[in-house]
Amino acid sequence: MKKRIGVLTSGGDAPGMNAAVRAVARTAISKGMEVVGIKRGYNGLLNGDYFMMEKSSVSGIIKRGGTCLYTARCLEFVKPEGVLKGKERCEELGLDGIVVIGGDGSFRGAADLSAAGIPCIGIPGTIDNDIQCTEYTIGYDTALNTATEMIDKLRDTAQSHDRCSVVEVMGRKAGFIAVNVAIAVGAEAVITLERPYDLDAIAAKMIKVRNSKNGKHHFLIVVAEGVGQTENIARSLQEMTGIESRVTVLGHVQRGGSPTLRDRVIATEMGYHAVELLEQGIGNRIVGLKDGKVYDIDLQEGLAMKKPFIDDRYDIFYDTAY
Ligand code: ADP
Repeated sequence: MKKRIGVLTSGGDAPGMNAAVRAVARTAISKGMEVVGIKRGYNGLLNGDYFMMEKSSVSGIIKRGGTCLYTARCLEFVKPEGVLKGKERCEELGLDGIVVIGGDGSFRGAADLSAAGIPCIGIPGTIDNDIQCTEYTIGYDTALNTATEMIDKLRDTAQSHDRCSVVEVMGRKAGFIAVNVAIAVGAEAVITLERPYDLDAIAAKMIKVRNSKNGKHHFLIVVAEGVGQTENIARSLQEMTGIESRVTVLGHVQRGGSPTLRDRVIATEMGYHAVELLEQGIGNRIVGLKDGKVYDIDLQEGLAMKKPFIDDRYDIFYDTAY
């Protein structure tokens, strides 16, 4: 009998998820397996919202942002009864395994389903790059490039008006996007959850820089979403410096758009590797990148690892800032 696997995308979407879905579907079909596309994360599994995929089901999607399988959060699946129902659905469907593309929340679901007896493979798809067991998560490169492009545009207008632009970038729990983007756009300051910040010092530096010989009159401050103080930061800086400070929240634009080459290629490699594992009957693994190469690690072990902050890069930012 042909092996049959499922594929779903779950949690926050990320550009490049489509490339991963495509790789899973095409690899599995090439290897003589059947593939079930499950819609809207674990919801589709519980509600019977799925379809048999063909090679043509994923035609033309590698360059598209978002996910053709749609994504959602599924509260029912967080409860043991939800996982049990998911396992029963997999058995009814004759699934020999599922590839789950998502972030650490989605991986917890995959770990539970694996423990219930359904082999699951997690592929990291999140713009936050906040999963320790992998050097890279699909969507990160595209999100960084999108944010950089947007902030470059803001710099133009901030410069023309001698303004301070306070830009909030995504990262509810992690400041990785903020620090890297701050370097890329040549920001004057970056504020993240992981490191304490001193608005008095930032304001004093802005005044000093403005009054210096080559006086700089426009400023860019990058703030990670998780700090939750973007409006207050802008207001305080304006009060302390007298420099007009405007807030821009980049928001969900950072999640969209056509994935970069890096995202497409890594997503394809990860999707391919995930299918190879399921083909051998191996489940309960996360596919990741280590020393630049695709590898896999036990789901629980990978989930238990905590990602340290990029302190070295944070320091490089401040040492190279104006
Ligand atoms: P992400 O995968 O991007 O981190 P979430 O944290 O929202 O996104 O998780 C996505 C989905 O994964 C949840 O809606 C839920 O269906 C499932 N999930 C999250 N945490 C768990 C858990 N502890 N046990 C089982 N399923 C979970």
